Amino acid sequence: VIELGQPEHSVTTTCAYCGVGCGFKAEMKGAEVVRMVPWKNGAANEGHSCVKGRFAWGYATHADRITTPMIRKKITDPWQVVSWEEAIGYAASEFKRIQAQHGRDSIGGITSSRCTNEETYLVQKLVRAAFGNNNVDTCARVCHSPTGYGLKQTLGESAGTQTFKSVEQADVVMVIGANPTDGHPVFASRLKKRLREGAQLIVIDPRRIDLVKSPHIRAAFHLPLRPGTNVAVLTALAHVIVTEGLLAQDYIAERCDAKSFGEWMEFVARPEHSPEATEAVTGVPAADLRGAARLYAGAGNGAIYYGLGVTEHSQGSTAVMAIANLAMATGNVGREGVGVNPLRGQNNVQGSCDMGSFPHELPGYRHVSDLATRTQFEQAWGVAIQPEPGLRIPNMFEAALSGSFKGLYCEGEDIVQSDPNTQHVAAAMMAMECIVVQDLFLNETAKYAHVFLPGSSFLEKDGTFTNAERRISRVRKVMPPKAVYADWEVTQLLSNALGYPMNYGHPEEIMAEIAALTPTFRGVTYRKLDELGSVQWPCNDDAPEGTPIMHIDQFVRGKGRFILTQYVPTDEKVTRRFPLLLTTGRILSQYNVGAQTRRTDNNRWHSEDRLEIHPVDAEDRGIRHGDWVGVQSRAGETVLRAVISERMQPGVVYTTFHFPESGANVITTDSSDWATNCPEYKVTAVQVMPVAQP
Ligand code: SF4
Repeated sequence: VIELGQPEHSVTTTCAYCGVGCGFKAEMKGAEVVRMVPWKNGAANEGHSCVKGRFAWGYATHADRITTPMIRKKITDPWQVVSWEEAIGYAASEFKRIQAQHGRDSIGGITSSRCTNEETYLVQKLVRAAFGNNNVDTCARVCHSPTGYGLKQTLGESAGTQTFKSVEQADVVMVIGANPTDGHPVFASRLKKRLREGAQLIVIDPRRIDLVKSPHIRAAFHLPLRPGTNVAVLTALAHVIVTEGLLAQDYIAERCDAKSFGEWMEFVARPEHSPEATEAVTGVPAADLRGAARLYAGAGNGAIYYGLGVTEHSQGSTAVMAIANLAMATGNVGREGVGVNPLRGQNNVQGSCDMGSFPHELPGYRHVSDLATRTQFEQAWGVAIQPEPGLRIPNMFEAALSGSFKGLYCEGEDIVQSDPNTQHVAAAMMAMECIVVQDLFLNETAKYAHVFLPGSSFLEKDGTFTNAERRISRVRKVMPPKAVYADWEVTQLLSNALGYPMNYGHPEEIMAEIAALTPTFRGVTYRKLDELGSVQWPCNDDAPEGTPIMHIDQFVRGKGRFILTQYVPTDEKVTRRFPLLLTTGRILSQYNVGAQTRRTDNNRWHSEDRLEIHPVDAEDRGIRHGDWVGVQSRAGETVLRAVISERMQPGVVYTTFHFPESGANVITTDSSDWATNCPEYKVTAVQVMPVAQP
């Protein structure tokens, strides 16, 4: 007799939350999950887990799941439950009608890190082959698109350089704009272990995050910069390294492009980039800038880990390139214990980018304008591919408002809650004629949808996720899809209804096509993943078992390229009306828009977004701990409960973004990265005043 809670069998799969990508055993009783047990052989976690992956999987069976397709002609009409055939047929006929009336480029698709690699590959294939345009984008647009751009420009590949395990050989670790304790907990544990063993830590962050000072850990330097001044701080560090003769001269001579290095050295050495000149701009004491630069440059192994506090700025791409410059200048790329390591937020944001879900790139980061690449895909897919990049998500919104973009297929991404300036996004959604949302729940985006197609959770499908260290791991189906079809099958149905045939029988066949068309994935097979547990791309004839450390003998682009990183102040400036700067981030128990974690017991630990404010700013405004406060920006206004905290610096306030009712993005603005349009979530000028309880 099997007692309630005793598993009958287990299935090895991968966490669907953050970019650490922990392996789990889903312990099963019949078709029900009894518990999730961290997998000892999981290379990313080695038997460890956090409160999200271990306990917060219950959303998959939550009563809020929508398991039947629905349509409505107008968003003010009630939803009508219909058959799959009718829903798919209606969506396809609407997309065809829109294209006939408004042209080929009047529709597009958005995919998400919630999707597997195989699903994302199919969404971009649907857009390119069935829609006939390149209007496809992904949630990386709003998080790590600057990483993709910046690392490709400097090192030659749009990905981090190391394994997570590599931190165990670092002597000095620089954490910039990331809070691993909350955002990447299992990596944070690995990092803290190394720090307890004696590695030194530099934290660059406006807040005094947990890592700065916690039991047995004290950062050697905390540089509490003003939000928006990353580039000035990083260039000042480079100034010290150059002017004090701390460069890795032999490494640079052998590995880096001499011309770009010479120009960069002359640029950063200018007096305007000195710590003393920079202090007034950044708020960071010159002595600490000098000390941090000396510590990093003097390390045997210096490793940099960074997060959205680097990328989500008007100069996000510039800051990523400034980080790569620092690592090259000190010889800290291409071996264990060093590197440039983006802490990617979501489970499959790396994979989503790898799979060609950008409007300018086909799978493997190859530009759509490249004739050889296009020809390869055209021959495989039997269609013509447009040579011009399509619309990014913010461009889709602009085009909708100007009347030229009318239809959207959105899989697994709640753009209305997660994208900045909610009012602007909502207006764009209202201007479209057919929005198809494929998701687990009726989320904020579904409020504007005309067709709802039920999605499938990670427990209901096969596929792969790629974590922040380029590690491709299997996602395995442990229960049948609640709504008959897995997400990849729904995309396939839609493509067939639009007249472009897709006939995959299993995600393994999709991966075989990805491998055949993508040089960095050429050696990836499900069989290999079963045998090895996981592999890190590039995985091909040159590296049949994958590539844990990149750029070992030379950079992917050949010679490492230094880029000049001129600091340009953001347009989001404090004024008399908006005298504080708001920055945003995550909390341990919740995850992104909260659609998953809010439907689990994790909600007990943190059930609302709050505003952290320094005691001085609170006192100036008569705000007490726990008061309700109105937070107003030039975009909008919301109400949050105040938490008075000395983790903040005066003049800076902070909130999380997990709850639609508090809507942090009601107040964030359209300001974005100059190269990629990644929104500037980390800097919004606001006013904060006490208000009555809402
Ligand atoms: Fe999941 Fe990330 Fe937690 Fe690992 S650290 S269990 S991947 S949320």
